[in-house]
Amino acid sequence: MEQERLTRRQADVYRFIRDFAAANRYLPSQRQIADGLGMCPTTARGHVCELVRKGFLGMHHHETRGMWLAVELTDEQLPKPTGRRPPVELTCPGCGARVKADPQSREGFQRLARAFQNEHAACSAAAEGE
Ligand SMILES: [Zn+2]
Repeated sequence: MEQERLTRRQADVYRFIRDFAAANRYLPSQRQIADGLGMCPTTARGHVCELVRKGFLGMHHHETRGMWLAVELTDEQLPKPTGRRPPVELTCPGCGARVKADPQSREGFQRLARAFQNEHAACSAAAEGE
């Protein structure tokens, strides 16, 4: 049977699910897929649906908990990774506030990190002074 091809981004999702399953002995939730790959949950859901439609994943009742890998593919059999990195979480040492930053855009990341540091300058300094 001719296997349908995956896009590189779909292969990222497949690879994430496969590696997560190998490490944890269960499949990730769509939230975990989204967080792990730095995509929004709707996008993750779309990729999962395509993987199901193309026969790479099986799914019961449209629930990720009822998901299984329908085919085992090695990295050599998959398209190259897109190399997208997951978001980086910044935490204020003072108040513990967190923000997620997307490292894909270097400029955007630095702007967000600066704004976060400015916003929390006072409580960060207070924490360091303790
Ligand atoms: Zn703070």
